[in-house]
Amino acid sequence: MLIAGLEGHICDHCIEQAYGIMNEELGTKKSFSFDTVNLLKPAEIKHFLDQYVIGQDMAKKIISVAVYNHYKRLMQKPDSEDIEIEKSNIILVGETGTGKTLLARTVAKMLHVPFTIVDATVLTEAGYVGEDIESLLTRLLQNADYDVKAAEKGIVFIDEIDKIARKGDNPSITRDVSGEGVQQGLLKLLEGSIVNVPPQGGRKHPEQKMIPVDTKNILFICGGAFEGIERKIAQRLNTQVVGYGASKHRDRIDKDNLLQYIAPQDLRAYGLIPEIIGRLPVLTHLNPLDRDALRAILTEPKNALVKQYIKLFKMDGIELTFGEGVLDFIVDKAIEFKLGARGLRSICEAIMLDAMFDSPSAATKELLITTDYAVSKLERIDMKVLRAS
Ligand code: ADP
Repeated sequence: MLIAGLEGHICDHCIEQAYGIMNEELGTKKSFSFDTVNLLKPAEIKHFLDQYVIGQDMAKKIISVAVYNHYKRLMQKPDSEDIEIEKSNIILVGETGTGKTLLARTVAKMLHVPFTIVDATVLTEAGYVGEDIESLLTRLLQNADYDVKAAEKGIVFIDEIDKIARKGDNPSITRDVSGEGVQQGLLKLLEGSIVNVPPQGGRKHPEQKMIPVDTKNILFICGGAFEGIERKIAQRLNTQVVGYGASKHRDRIDKDNLLQYIAPQDLRAYGLIPEIIGRLPVLTHLNPLDRDALRAILTEPKNALVKQYIKLFKMDGIELTFGEGVLDFIVDKAIEFKLGARGLRSICEAIMLDAMFDSPSAATKELLITTDYAVSKLERIDMKVLRAS
């Protein structure tokens, strides 16, 4: 398209190019530059997390300190002392739906840095069906609008890290391409090295030019449920408590929540290689969510489910209220069907569906969800469907 001026014309292509040049020159391009990272103190970081994540105080405290140290490390100037602060990658262990991803996501939100979540289960050793390990940096680059400098200070959350544990004790029988093979590959990223990243990801574009990304300053947060790791913890605790004072020690062990005693050697017993564990120095656990925590999750976080529904209805001019006991009923159902916090949303959706369908075209301006109403809506739903979601 040509746009006419007084003495000449300019085409759309040139306009776009000129716009790009202007942005670059004036620095108006959206940037995640590190100067804009507002460095909060650990107590302030925790306070921020408190607004979104219920409970999990220990994990929040440990993450707050780790994130604070990580960014202090980035700010350090090379000095004469030659003391180098080491990277503090984090590993979170806890049942699914207890807030691991939420914690990582909230940290990234607070820091305004590029953030990506990747699932370790899709990764395989290079050359096998699945995604190369480098692909997790592709996602980070995409989220940073291909601003490599920003991506190099970003946060990568690797979910389901437990799924790449070594399968079986004897690594020499077959090649373990989605287990130990991936761990070896991951090691390179966690340690900090320059990795050639395919900008579009995948192996479908062999002709694409690789982008070198330095992972030295990328904060890796890993999460996993590590199902059955309690047994390893119990074994270790049992073998430790022999001899003088043993019975006293054993009494103090809270058998219902063994995860709180997790130590690096348990991860090793589970099948993570020692080098990986060494690169994830900050280890913490998340507690299972009890009834009070689930109840609080419904109403208290900044974007709590209940608040979201009230807002949705408000946009149609309808005042939505939840009657006495409804929220307890929802929590009961989530516990009954072992759905945890993840299930709260599916249960709410099932209850609210008809109301969300009908209300916008009805004349009512007020809507009260009573327990009877909730019970009747849930009765029709096959709970198996909810469980699968
Ligand atoms: P996972 O531990 O499996 O990564 P998520 O963080 O994805 O679990 O949690 C799933 C959903 O459950 C979240 O989106 C959030 O709505 C809710 N949730 C889980 N734990 C908490 C928590 N401690 N506080 C508030 N919401 C939570």
